[in-house]
Amino acid sequence: MMTTAKNQQRIAIIGAGPGGLTLALILQKHGIQTVIYEREPFDMNGQRGGSLDIHEESGQRALREAGLYEQFQKLARYEGEDFRLFDKTGKIYMDEVAELDDKGTRPEIDRGTLCDMLLESLGSNSVQYGHKLIRAVPLNNGQHELHFENGYVDTVDLVVGADGAFSRIRQLVTDRDAEYSGLSMIEINVLNAAAAHPELAVFNGRGKMFALDDHKGILAQLNGDGRIRVYLSFEKERGWLDQCGIPFDQPEEAKRQLLELYGDWDESLKLYIRSADGDMLPRRIYMLPVGLRWSRKPGVTLIGDAAHLMSPFAGEGVNMAMLDALELALAIVQDGDVNQAVGTYEEKMFVYSSQLAEESLDNLKLCFGDEAARNLADLMNQYHLQP
Ligand SMILES: Cc1cc2nc3c(=O)[nH]c(=O)nc-3n(C[C@H](O)[C@H](O)[C@H](O)COP(=O)(O)OP(=O)(O)OC[C@H]3O[C@@H](n4cnc5c(N)ncnc54)[C@H](O)[C@@H]3O)c2cc1C
Repeated sequence: MMTTAKNQQRIAIIGAGPGGLTLALILQKHGIQTVIYEREPFDMNGQRGGSLDIHEESGQRALREAGLYEQFQKLARYEGEDFRLFDKTGKIYMDEVAELDDKGTRPEIDRGTLCDMLLESLGSNSVQYGHKLIRAVPLNNGQHELHFENGYVDTVDLVVGADGAFSRIRQLVTDRDAEYSGLSMIEINVLNAAAAHPELAVFNGRGKMFALDDHKGILAQLNGDGRIRVYLSFEKERGWLDQCGIPFDQPEEAKRQLLELYGDWDESLKLYIRSADGDMLPRRIYMLPVGLRWSRKPGVTLIGDAAHLMSPFAGEGVNMAMLDALELALAIVQDGDVNQAVGTYEEKMFVYSSQLAEESLDNLKLCFGDEAARNLADLMNQYHLQP
């Protein structure tokens, strides 16, 4: 297999989500240039999901290494760590208010703001937008030939799949695929909550609100732009979103039907649905098998959701993507050869990601099982966990 000097090895990253951007930036800080190929025509991170809590031991470590920690601290919402937990009757189980003098370890930042910060530091030409990878062909010398939908072809020494839940690169290392987790969500938004819906804004508080009961949930989070993003969550079979008959493109009728599904829930909780504005976004939650590993393959690896897609119930998805980026980047910087670096990174990553994937699955089962609010409160009080 051909090896080239470290500074000549060509590294391509597929996907400009938080994982791919963090990897490129940390490598750039160490003088190693990469190319990121992203299928979207421009940066779409701001339109894809809401507030993320960035953990001290993973996401924040990566930001320190990327030289962005101070900027992050200015943008992060430490009050976003507030957490309220209810059952369907409106009984409150937890009401945690973050102490702002004593900064917490998991402050919130909107996904768009986080990615803007990474992109700005990387420089404007670092991402090749409009490049959807359709095929990666392993060559005999350990390199990969990358084929894009727009006809472009590139040959690289290392291709990193940072291409998310339905990664194309993943099939180069394993035949396992993302599977439906048993949970379906409908995302709704309450825009400009403080001014337009003050009663709901006070009820929600400055961070997250979970209401759990009857194998359902209302999961709400205040975002940096003043909206409350709400995930109406249902433990249902895979086809339910298609078969339930809710017309998601007719929001008023959809709201009426959703209110029926939460018919015996307290009015304070149903107010999230009544107050929703604009589009609704149905989505199924997928996950990879917990503990997925693969045997090392030359010239290719995965980071983030591509490697260990997990349900969002440990709040770890973005943190793992950024930790993977950090570990892989440091291994590449330290090792002379990208393939040795991949081996070092993968062994570490398999261990920490499988522990968190298991935790995430346990939390999902708990949140949609019987006595969910009580059980989640007991668990969090026992371990002083944060959602
Ligand atoms: C409803 C919901 C709520 C969540 N809440 C949280 C939370 O509170 N905290 C948390 O930590 N995580 C949360 N997550 C998970 C988090 O969003 C992901 O774990 C994180 O975005 C993973 O980052 P990534 O860079 O690996 O992948 P992604 O963010 O998915 O980025 C992948 C990128 O690859 C691009 N791409 C895909 N295929 C191709 C291709 N063929 N060619 C070129 N480009 C391609 C995509 O366009 C995208 O830009 C949540 C997820 C969901 C669904």
